[in-house]
Amino acid sequence: MGCLSELMKRHHGIEIDEGQERLLMDDLHAIMDVNKTMNLTRILSEEGGIVLHLEDSLTGLPFVNDAPEGLYGDLGTGGGFPGIPLCIMTGRQTLLVDSVKKKVAALEGVAKEIGIGERVGVYGGRIEDLAIERKGDFSVLTARALSSLSSLMELASPLLRKRGRLVCYKAQPSEDEVENALGIQELVGLRLECDQTFCLSDGSTRRIFVFEKTGAPRIKLPRRNGLAQKDPLRPRP
Ligand code: SAH
Repeated sequence: MGCLSELMKRHHGIEIDEGQERLLMDDLHAIMDVNKTMNLTRILSEEGGIVLHLEDSLTGLPFVNDAPEGLYGDLGTGGGFPGIPLCIMTGRQTLLVDSVKKKVAALEGVAKEIGIGERVGVYGGRIEDLAIERKGDFSVLTARALSSLSSLMELASPLLRKRGRLVCYKAQPSEDEVENALGIQELVGLRLECDQTFCLSDGSTRRIFVFEKTGAPRIKLPRRNGLAQKDPLRPRP
């Protein structure tokens, strides 16, 4: 058993088979390689990447598995985290979304190189534009290190089908951020399903929030490009 599968089993009770572990490590190595010429991640060592990219990405696996069958999308995927690791583990058809076209072009190359090209699509554009093109197409979405919870909820809602899930990866969100998110649930047609805190093997804390799409948003979404992140929705009195 390799180092990653041992770590995932011991710390999170998640099983990884040999083939999956090889693909996950191939992904990390390929991303580190691309990173020599393009800024995809600040994490430079293999040990750091195993914990902060692979282990962290995989903590969301049970929530993605719990979502209804169908298309998975990773919003603001950057270096393909958590999108590529979760694609490897779930076998779901996956769309990696980032507004920086050269990043997603590089990820498309990485997916082909490691042999999962047919399961990975990319979208080089804004999430708000994707929401117009692919309304209600996604069964599950993830987002790590992208925006505040309320911005993520607003961006994700129009993309999700009914009962689809949004899995948000957070480090330590402020009370305000969480309160605001809880206050806009009805407005955007999402409901908090689960809020779980994890400890990574390096001792750092992470928190995952899972929202379920319950119905149509009360307002027209997406709003104009940029507003979800620059001027987030607030609870209405
Ligand atoms: N999820 C990755 C990268 C986080 S950085 C990780 O955890 O390592 C956030 C990424 O989101 C950046 O690559 C940025 O280009 C992208 N991004 C930010 N706002 C966006 C939007 N509205 N539409 C599409 N991509 C966006």
